[in-house]
Amino acid sequence: MAYPGYFNPRAAASPYWNPYFETLPRAELDRLHLRRLQQLVRYAWTYSPFYRARLEAAGVQPEDIRSLADYKQRMPIIDKTDFLALQEERPHYGQTGAVPEEWIAHHCETSGTTGVPLRIPLTLYDTERYGEGWCYGWWAVGIRPGDSFYFAFNWGLFAGFWSAYWAVRRFGGKVVSGGGQSSEGHIRMIRRLRPTVLLATPTYVLYLAEVARGMGIDPASLGVRFIYTAGEPGPNAVPAMREQMERAWGARANELLGVAELHAYAPGCPTGEGVHVDESGAFAWVRDPATGREVAEGEVGETIVTSYANLAQPLLNYRTHDLVRPYYSCRCGRTGLFYQGVVLGRTDFMVCVRGTNVYQAAVENVLGRVEGLSSHYELVLTRERGLDQMTVRAEPQPDCPEAEYPALAARTARAIQETLKVRLAVTLVPPGTLPRYELKTRRIIDQRPKEIRYALERQ
Ligand SMILES: [Zn+2]
Repeated sequence: MAYPGYFNPRAAASPYWNPYFETLPRAELDRLHLRRLQQLVRYAWTYSPFYRARLEAAGVQPEDIRSLADYKQRMPIIDKTDFLALQEERPHYGQTGAVPEEWIAHHCETSGTTGVPLRIPLTLYDTERYGEGWCYGWWAVGIRPGDSFYFAFNWGLFAGFWSAYWAVRRFGGKVVSGGGQSSEGHIRMIRRLRPTVLLATPTYVLYLAEVARGMGIDPASLGVRFIYTAGEPGPNAVPAMREQMERAWGARANELLGVAELHAYAPGCPTGEGVHVDESGAFAWVRDPATGREVAEGEVGETIVTSYANLAQPLLNYRTHDLVRPYYSCRCGRTGLFYQGVVLGRTDFMVCVRGTNVYQAAVENVLGRVEGLSSHYELVLTRERGLDQMTVRAEPQPDCPEAEYPALAARTARAIQETLKVRLAVTLVPPGTLPRYELKTRRIIDQRPKEIRYALERQ
């Protein structure tokens, strides 16, 4: 056996990274969460002036949290905008930090796609805990410590793939750091070093395959056995993307759902149909964004997450703005909260077109099934006469003749209408027109007036 000696054979054969935790019955998980949340509330109250003020304003003392229901209803809901204002006021971490600044081992920031980046301080303990979410997902699909992980990633302030790096160290695998270089450079390096796991955003995984083919190299010949993505909807959210990825690379693909400032908190389910909350690292529940009440199993709502992995800047009952469909069980046997289809949309980009809620992931799924379209697309939001409108801009496959565009656009619009019951305008643009991104791909171009966007973000 090629594994390091500290892995016993029985553990190596298990489908679980943490057999005890991943199969713990809900009632026991809940009991454990309550104990941990009570401690965390007391910690935040004691060490973070921000939480002390918020709890006092809400008239809540730590000892008032006697049940999970108390926690969900009485603990104030925290939003990124609360933190941004305070950090701006008093850099670096203002009143949001809970440890002296000299304890910080790592400083990250959000990618700032919505404007000002949020500063993320992490202690050494936080980085260890933060990274572990990935290990659950990797182990579940059959990745083992003997594997080597290629990071097709420019090492900046973005927390996402740093957390994967911390995870590889914990997992016992080998880090192969691609660093910031051209896509051709990545392909050459992969060919030379033969890593077995490729870590990147899903769009970049597909783009690298395109680049390899352009160099006359079949990506499936490069020896990559697993693809693991994060940062945007990936193979578990968009089945068409999985097919494309797995076919191109001859590898098994899966994904992790994380929130940069929070935690890599929901690794992929091995069925490929969604993700499971890592209940050892986070507590998550799902609420109706309109009423604030917890949704029933199988209903769509916003997931609210508390991280056990961030003591430097505690995040309790934190809004993710991610819309998910939760289930309490899964056919893979894991008891961790399951989000079918990963993230279905964003509360800030939940667009109501002629009375129908339209989610980005749903549109992407339809586009993936239309023959002749490539994986590159954008959704343009506008507001006309007081109503939200969405236009799909998509690129056809490079070999599609221009004369075919109108027919392809009509087919796409029909597929959207049949599946989503909503009529969206579809515009096709020549291959190579839409921008390519190494990190977060901007799929939604919001051209609605600023005040409307702001109101939706504050929901
Ligand atoms: Zn599962």
